[in-house]
Formats: sequence, structure tokens, C-alpha cells
Amino acid sequence: ARRDLAQTFRDLDGQSYGRYKSLVGSWDLRHGSLEIVRAQADPFAPPSRVRVTLPDAAPEELTRTPDRRRAHATFLLRRLRRELRGTPLQVDAGGQQVLARTAGQVRDDGTVVIELGAPLPGPKRRILGREAATLLGETLPAAVATLRWEELPDDERAAATRFAETVEDAVALREALAERRLVAFVADGAVLPRRTGVDDRPLEHATPFAAPESLRVTLETPNAGPVVGMGVPEGVTLIVGGGYHGKSTLLRAIEAGVHDHGPGDGREQVVARADAVKVRAEDGRSVVRSDVSAFVSHLPSGEPTDDFSTTNASGSTSQAASMVEAIEAGAGVLMVDEDTSATNMMIRDARMQQLIATEPLVPFVERIRPLHAERGVSSVLVMGGSGDYLGVADTVIMMSSYAASEVTEQAHEIAASTPGRTQEHSGFPAVTARVVDPASLDPSGKQGKRRITARGIDTLTFGEDDVDLAAVEQVVDRSQVTGIGRAMALLGDHVLDGSITLAEGLDLLDAQVARDGVDALRDGPRDPADLALPRRHEVAAAVNRLRSVRVRSLRR
Ligand code: ADP
Ligand code: MG
Repeated sequence: ARRDLAQTFRDLDGQSYGRYKSLVGSWDLRHGSLEIVRAQADPFAPPSRVRVTLPDAAPEELTRTPDRRRAHATFLLRRLRRELRGTPLQVDAGGQQVLARTAGQVRDDGTVVIELGAPLPGPKRRILGREAATLLGETLPAAVATLRWEELPDDERAAATRFAETVEDAVALREALAERRLVAFVADGAVLPRRTGVDDRPLEHATPFAAPESLRVTLETPNAGPVVGMGVPEGVTLIVGGGYHGKSTLLRAIEAGVHDHGPGDGREQVVARADAVKVRAEDGRSVVRSDVSAFVSHLPSGEPTDDFSTTNASGSTSQAASMVEAIEAGAGVLMVDEDTSATNMMIRDARMQQLIATEPLVPFVERIRPLHAERGVSSVLVMGGSGDYLGVADTVIMMSSYAASEVTEQAHEIAASTPGRTQEHSGFPAVTARVVDPASLDPSGKQGKRRITARGIDTLTFGEDDVDLAAVEQVVDRSQVTGIGRAMALLGDHVLDGSITLAEGLDLLDAQVARDGVDALRDGPRDPADLALPRRHEVAAAVNRLRSVRVRSLRR
């Protein structure tokens, strides 16, 4: 490695901007090394990439499991972002979730690796040597030095330990769910509401969650010991209650429970099964050869419903497609909120059954029980507006002034004693699997250059397409969106071969991710991208929303 980056920057002062490229390579730091991975070609290009490697910077206590390493990396990134606030250096520390990301990794030997975006100064396309020397030669080394365990003050060490233990406990809670036949767990004392619709931090002065007696369970964790809270059982669970009493807030917290959260988030002990998928209506989306026959029995146009395509789905067909696609990709739990559902996809009441004899839509209420009984897929549903679900629910949770109670018995009594709708269908037909043409998962843009870019958390630019992810609600991080794009390209380049199904391809992708972590999504060691690990379910959701995707064949 070369010495004295700062002096080299100063020596280049005033030279043409392109000379920054001569600095690419490894430089000595007092406690490790700093690598300029990639230097931008001009001041307006995406920032240069810098990687800092700090050997022996994390203690055994925080490196002994992958979950602890992921937690500690997140802790350090958040700390570094605070340290570098006010500088142009860009640390991808993420939001409230604890995700595996390329910006920061902790290795099992205690090495800490941090990557950041560094916009190199150069107005008028001349190197501003002094400023660059200060930024990368002084500010950055000083900031990363504070991440070393040796440098951390006692209270920060305690916070780092608590962070790792909290994440480890969340993983343990999630892993305990299946054995207890639960799909989700919400601990007593959890704070579910968020500050605003665009601020994911906990609402202040919120009413903490308390489990109803009858749903109270105790789960063991390695650090916090026994944790008491509400277990949401497998099967069909209904969340009812008056408007504005906290139903959607409870469901959203459960949805978020597929990810881990740090101490103080309020949801650090709220977990859902890793295969729980939120589904909603999304009129206007494209659907490519999905088998929606479980929810659409026939179409007025005569199109087949087991091989259904549209460039502009209605509310109901979009939701039908999203549900079967989630099942195809391996969802074990579907989560649905009335607020974001197509009414005719959810219900068809007794009066409408009398008036309209030939309804093509099969409402969810008809399929929700066989979906669990025959396909093993549970549902958690928010429904305050229709009583038709009372009779089909295994568990009914009522929210009243943010307090949860169980009202299953009353719900069943009401369902049994009042006339209701007639069941018109039975069973849940097998969902046809699709074989995706790998050549159609091609991120090449017009000039053949790869284009995989996130715009916020709602849009993924993938080659010539913009994939709308706004309705894929469990995507929580911009870097996850980029990660989704990379995963799609990986599926197209190396995983799918035109013979295996999409679900089989996702299995192979999961295996690669289990082995290599987020690095599985990198283009190579010099890849400058901030990536965070997405779930297979969100990768599938993006494939399904790619308008140019081609489905080669169907497998029944
Ligand atoms: P619903 O779906 O039943 O109509 P919401 O879940 O949308 O109700 O909640 C309505 C409002 O109450 C939201 O602004 C939410 O932030 C707030 N809220 C939800 N739960 C709590 C709580 N535990 N403490 C304080 N406010 C809450
Ligand atoms: Mg609501």
C-alpha cells in the first residue's frame, strides 16, 4: 500500500480532474488501509468509492455469529454517519431496519470494512487538492478510527452490545414462531405507530402494546430471556375494530417484523415469519401469464384465467395476481389490509349474491380457509367494514383505542346466529408455476450499458424499464431496491436457464445468498454500489412487475 494520501492529494492540486484516477489503489492508514476503489471521471458523476479496512476492530463478542456481525456493522454505520454529518461523505447506514449491506461489513476475524461514497472536489474540472486531502486524509481516517472497539467509550460499547443482543433476540423470536405454530409475535410494551407516514421512527407518547390474556405467549430469547406478548396463530386471523383504533398500525408492525430493528425502535420484539408477504390492490400494474383462476373464474372477454396477462390490471385482478404470485414465490403468510384492497376482491355479500348471479371474481373470503387447509398458507387480515369474515376466522383480534382483545367466540356466535352469504366455491386450486425466460431479465440500456438504479424505494430502473415497487410495501430501503435489481440480473445471467421455474430459481438465489451474503449481489470487488439484501419475495414481486418480462412456459 502507498503512503500519505493527503500529501499526494495536495501535490495534485490544480491538475485536471481526471488525474484523481491515479489515486485508485490502496493507501496506508494508521489502523488499517484505505482503498480508492473507483474514482469518478468528473465532478458530476456518481461519487467515488472508498473502502476502509480496519483489522481487529471488533471484539469476538460481536463477531461470533452472522447476526451479531450484521448488527454490529449496522451499529457502526449509524455511528459513522453521525460522525460524518455535515461532510460530503455518504454513508449508506439505512433506516430503522438492520439489513446486510455492502456499505459496512464485520468479518468473523474482527475486521471491519466500510465503504462510502466520496464526491471528490473539483469545480472547473481541476483537482482541489487541499480540500480532498482534508476530506480523505484527515476527516475520514479520524472518523473511522472512532469505530474501533479500543476507541469506543464504555457507554458506546454497552450500546453496541445491546444492539447486537437485540438483533440476536429478534432472530430467535422469529425462529421460534414455526414451532409454536405462530405466524407473528408482538411483545408487550412494543411501540407500533410511527411518527409520520414518512418518518419511520417511533411515535412519541404512543400507547404501548399489551397482549390479550387469551393470546398471551412467552418466547425464549438468548439475551433478554423470556419475552411475553401476543402470538398470532397460524390459520386465518382477522383484525377488527372501529376506524382509527389502530388496526392498520398493528398489521404494518407485523409486516415490518420480517426485518430486524434496533433498540429503541419500538418494534425490536415484533416479528413475523420470514415468508410473510403483504399484498394489496394496485390497479394499472402489468401481469404476465399469471394463473389467477383461484380468484377469477372467467372473464367477460373469454380470456383464460389460468394464463392471464394485462398491461393495465384492475384493482381486483391486480390483487388477485399479487396473491397468487406471492404464493408461487413461496409465501407462507399473506397479509391484507382493507384500506388497500379492492372491495370486490375481498367480499361479495348475500344481497349481491342474489342480484348478480354470474360474478367472475371469487372473493378472498371464499378461498381464505382452503388456502390454509390445502396450501398451508395463513392469512392475517384487517377488516373492519364487513362481517362476512367473522365465520371464517380462526382468531379474531379487536383493536379498541389501540388496545387489543380477542373476540373470536363472540365473532363466531354472531356468524352462526345471523344470516350470511352462501359459500359458492370450494378448495384452493394449485397455482400454475411459471418458467421465466432468463434473456428477458436483462438490465441492458440503449447503449448496452447495464442500468440498475433505485429511485427512492418506489421505483427500480432495470434496463429500459421502470419497475413500480410502490405497492410492494415490505421494501424498506433504497439500497434494497438496487439489491432487487441485481438479484434480477443474477437470476437472468446465471440462475434461470429456461427450464426451471421462477420459484426454483429463487431457491437457488437463496442458497447463494445464504453462502455469500449480500456479496452475492455484487458485480465484483470493485463494484461501487450501495446494496442491501432483499428477500426472495420482493425479488419475485419486481420480476412480476417488469413489463418486459417474458414467461417461457407454464408448469402445471
Ligand atoms: P385503523 O386502521 O383502525 O383505522 P390506524 O392503525 O390507521 O387505524 O391508526 C389510526 C391512528 O392512530 C394513526 O394515526 C396511528 O398513528 C395512531 N395510533 C395507532 N396505534 C397507536 C398507539 N398504540 N398509540 C398511539 N397512537 C396510535
Ligand atoms: Mg386502517
